[in-house]
Amino acid sequence: MKHDENCIFCKIIAGQIPSYKVYEDENVLAFLDISQVTKGHTLLIPKEHHQDIFELPEQAAASLFAAAPKIANAINATFEPEGLNLLNNNKEAAGQSVFHYHMHFLPRYGKGDGFG
Ligand code: 5GP
Ligand code: ZN
Repeated sequence: MKHDENCIFCKIIAGQIPSYKVYEDENVLAFLDISQVTKGHTLLIPKEHHQDIFELPEQAAASLFAAAPKIANAINATFEPEGLNLLNNNKEAAGQSVFHYHMHFLPRYGKGDGFG
Protein backbone atom coordinates (compact mmCIF):
# COMPACT_ATOMS: atom_id res chain seq x y z
CA MET A 1 0.00 0.00 0.00
CA LYS A 2 1.34 3.46 -0.97
CA HIS A 3 2.69 5.22 2.13
CA ASP A 4 4.62 8.48 2.67
CA GLU A 5 6.67 8.46 5.86
CA ASN A 6 6.60 12.28 6.09
CA CYS A 7 2.81 12.51 5.74
CA ILE A 8 0.76 13.38 8.87
CA PHE A 9 -2.25 11.37 7.68
CA CYS A 10 -0.13 8.31 6.84
CA LYS A 11 1.17 8.56 10.44
CA ILE A 12 -2.42 8.67 11.73
CA ILE A 13 -3.24 5.53 9.68
CA ALA A 14 -0.14 3.80 11.08
CA GLY A 15 -1.18 4.78 14.64
CA GLN A 16 1.96 6.90 15.13
CA ILE A 17 -0.20 9.99 15.74
CA PRO A 18 -3.38 9.55 17.82
CA SER A 19 -6.77 10.43 16.35
CA TYR A 20 -10.42 10.12 17.34
CA LYS A 21 -11.80 7.55 14.89
CA VAL A 22 -15.30 7.98 13.49
CA TYR A 23 -15.25 5.11 10.95
CA GLU A 24 -12.75 2.62 9.57
CA ASP A 25 -12.76 -0.16 7.00
CA GLU A 26 -10.12 -1.95 4.93
CA ASN A 27 -9.61 0.99 2.56
CA VAL A 28 -10.57 4.21 4.34
CA LEU A 29 -10.38 5.96 7.71
CA ALA A 30 -12.51 8.82 9.09
CA PHE A 31 -11.44 10.79 12.17
CA LEU A 32 -12.25 14.09 13.87
CA ASP A 33 -10.36 17.12 12.54
CA ILE A 34 -7.91 18.45 15.14
CA SER A 35 -9.30 21.93 14.55
CA GLN A 36 -13.11 21.65 14.75
CA VAL A 37 -14.53 24.33 12.42
CA THR A 38 -17.96 23.11 13.54
CA LYS A 39 -18.82 20.42 16.12
CA GLY A 40 -18.20 16.98 14.61
CA HIS A 41 -15.90 18.22 11.79
CA THR A 42 -14.58 14.96 10.34
CA LEU A 43 -11.98 14.02 7.73
CA LEU A 44 -12.28 10.97 5.46
CA ILE A 45 -9.08 9.66 3.87
CA PRO A 46 -8.00 6.68 1.79
CA LYS A 47 -5.51 4.42 3.60
CA GLU A 48 -3.26 4.59 0.55
CA HIS A 49 -1.29 7.81 0.15
CA HIS A 50 -2.57 9.83 -2.82
CA GLN A 51 -1.90 13.54 -2.91
CA ASP A 52 -5.14 14.95 -4.31
CA ILE A 53 -8.13 14.32 -6.59
CA PHE A 54 -5.86 14.50 -9.65
CA GLU A 55 -3.90 11.46 -8.42
CA LEU A 56 -6.77 9.51 -6.89
CA PRO A 57 -7.29 6.08 -8.50
CA GLU A 58 -10.87 5.12 -9.35
CA GLN A 59 -10.86 2.29 -6.80
CA ALA A 60 -9.86 4.65 -3.97
CA ALA A 61 -12.55 7.13 -5.04
CA ALA A 62 -15.12 4.32 -5.03
CA SER A 63 -14.09 3.25 -1.52
CA LEU A 64 -14.34 6.84 -0.24
CA PHE A 65 -17.80 7.43 -1.66
CA ALA A 66 -19.03 4.04 -0.50
CA ALA A 67 -18.09 5.04 3.05
CA ALA A 68 -19.36 8.65 2.83
CA PRO A 69 -23.08 8.01 3.61
CA LYS A 70 -22.11 5.84 6.60
CA ILE A 71 -19.98 8.65 8.02
CA ALA A 72 -22.71 11.23 7.29
CA ASN A 73 -25.22 9.08 9.21
CA ALA A 74 -22.79 8.50 12.10
CA ILE A 75 -22.26 12.27 12.36
CA ASN A 76 -26.04 12.84 12.26
CA ALA A 77 -26.64 10.30 15.00
CA THR A 78 -23.93 11.69 17.28
CA PHE A 79 -24.05 15.46 16.72
CA GLU A 80 -27.59 16.02 15.38
CA PRO A 81 -26.67 18.85 12.97
CA GLU A 82 -29.26 20.57 10.77
CA GLY A 83 -27.17 20.01 7.62
CA LEU A 84 -23.82 18.76 6.37
CA ASN A 85 -21.25 20.11 3.88
CA LEU A 86 -18.76 17.82 2.12
CA LEU A 87 -15.65 19.69 0.93
CA ASN A 88 -12.36 18.77 -0.67
CA ASN A 89 -9.44 21.17 -1.26
CA ASN A 90 -6.97 20.23 -4.00
CA LYS A 91 -3.58 21.96 -4.20
CA GLU A 92 -2.25 24.88 -2.15
CA ALA A 93 -4.04 27.51 -4.25
CA ALA A 94 -7.35 25.86 -3.28
CA GLY A 95 -6.50 25.79 0.44
CA GLN A 96 -5.04 22.27 0.72
CA SER A 97 -2.58 22.10 3.62
CA VAL A 98 -2.18 18.33 4.08
CA PHE A 99 -1.21 16.64 0.83
CA HIS A 100 -2.92 13.31 1.40
CA TYR A 101 -6.36 13.34 -0.23
CA HIS A 102 -9.14 14.06 2.26
CA MET A 103 -12.78 14.98 2.30
CA HIS A 104 -14.09 17.35 5.00
CA PHE A 105 -17.47 16.56 6.58
CA LEU A 106 -18.72 19.80 8.12
CA PRO A 107 -21.88 19.48 10.21
CA ARG A 108 -23.98 22.65 10.06
CA TYR A 109 -26.04 24.13 12.86
CA GLY A 110 -27.55 27.20 11.25
CA LYS A 111 -26.42 30.84 11.15
CA GLY A 112 -23.34 31.63 13.26
CA ASP A 113 -22.14 28.02 13.47
CA GLY A 114 -18.59 29.11 12.52
CA PHE A 115 -18.54 28.19 8.84
CA GLY A 116 -19.67 30.19 5.83
P1 5GP B 1 -6.92 21.03 4.20
O1 5GP B 1 -6.64 22.47 4.57
O2 5GP B 1 -5.67 20.35 3.64
O3 5GP B 1 -8.12 20.85 3.33
O4 5GP B 1 -7.29 20.32 5.56
C1 5GP B 1 -6.35 19.71 6.40
C2 5GP B 1 -7.06 19.49 7.72
O5 5GP B 1 -6.28 18.59 8.49
C3 5GP B 1 -7.21 20.78 8.56
O6 5GP B 1 -8.59 21.02 8.79
C4 5GP B 1 -6.45 20.45 9.85
O7 5GP B 1 -7.07 20.97 11.00
C5 5GP B 1 -6.40 18.93 9.84
N1 5GP B 1 -5.25 18.36 10.53
C6 5GP B 1 -3.95 18.73 10.35
N2 5GP B 1 -3.14 17.99 11.14
C7 5GP B 1 -3.95 17.13 11.82
C8 5GP B 1 -3.70 16.11 12.80
O8 5GP B 1 -2.56 15.83 13.20
N3 5GP B 1 -4.78 15.45 13.28
C9 5GP B 1 -6.06 15.73 12.87
N4 5GP B 1 -7.04 15.02 13.41
N5 5GP B 1 -6.32 16.67 11.95
C10 5GP B 1 -5.29 17.37 11.44
ZN1 ZN C 1 -0.26 10.15 3.36
